Amino acid sequence: MSATEKVVILGSGPAGLTAAIYTSRANLNPLVLEGIQPGGQLMITTEVENFPGFPEGVTGPELMDRCRKQAEKFGARLEAREATAVDLRSHPFKITIDGRDEIAADVLIVATGASARKLGLESEERLMGRGVSMCATCDGFFFQGEDIVVVGGGDTALEEAIFLTRFGRSVTIVHRRDQLRASWAMQERAKANAKIRFVWDSVVEEILGDEKVTGVRLKNVKTGETTELSCGAVFVAIGHEPNTKIFQGQLEMDDAGYIVTKPGSTRTSVEGVFACGDVQDQVYRQAITAAGTGCMAAIEAERWLESRGQ
Ligand code: NDP
Repeated sequence: MSATEKVVILGSGPAGLTAAIYTSRANLNPLVLEGIQPGGQLMITTEVENFPGFPEGVTGPELMDRCRKQAEKFGARLEAREATAVDLRSHPFKITIDGRDEIAADVLIVATGASARKLGLESEERLMGRGVSMCATCDGFFFQGEDIVVVGGGDTALEEAIFLTRFGRSVTIVHRRDQLRASWAMQERAKANAKIRFVWDSVVEEILGDEKVTGVRLKNVKTGETTELSCGAVFVAIGHEPNTKIFQGQLEMDDAGYIVTKPGSTRTSVEGVFACGDVQDQVYRQAITAAGTGCMAAIEAERWLESRGQ
């Protein structure tokens, strides 16, 4: 095993790379294991118009490329490898990379993110960024005056649907059951909105369109009947899954598997392990909030090392 790393960061989305910028500028020489999707979820986002500092907008991949260059400029070492196991029971922590190599770390910053659940359709992949989106806050603006479909029956689906009524001519929520999972308050708000309608007991069998979304083919799961609905955008809001498998049983998590951090900080249940970005955030899930908590994790890591005389 090589010498102990001072700071290892897992993940290279806005949270991980911001933590890398701050810790490298603090001379902590961080090692970033970029993970299976270097750049994180922004790599599957086209235009980002709400990240401060880019009045003309910026594409997700370009924003992450800039963050990566900024981190490297101050000496962060980025490796396109994945942490496949961790041992946080003793200190320094042990991290297995790609199932083979083992390294040790004084501080671990977890920024492994959450992955949006997908429908699993070929047409969903093909039309991603061309009318198919996983994030209304990010992409709603592009669909002014369009008929919009939102898939899902939880709080996210309803919140996104309500938000999308600002832009769309109509918003149709397609849910696989006849009862919503969302809170009553959210249900009341959605049902009171004149632009929103519901299609119950139905799943999206296919997203239609060649160059861009033109509609969806729906299947009623009770009757088996299929229908087509024309629309210009499909927002998939069927939940997220935090990437926390390797920390199970070692870090405190909530029922949905998100890492629990101490209120107002990025400290986890294990001293010296900090969590930032979507892996500990079910609520905001924005690039800017991920970057903000990445900064917090870096500052807390630095202070923690200092308090131990390192
Ligand atoms: P949820 O897991 O709560 O809901 C996911 C929804 O998607 C469910 O209705 C589920 O259906 C449906 N679904 C899941 N998989 C599929 C599939 N393959 N095909 C079709 N439909 C599918 O996720 P959310 O993101 O909505 O919410 C996550 C958490 O965040 C919740 O605790 C929620 O309360 C919270 N939240 C709170 C908000 C607020 O208070 N403002 C805003 C947003 C989220 P089914 O119901 O049949 O399982």
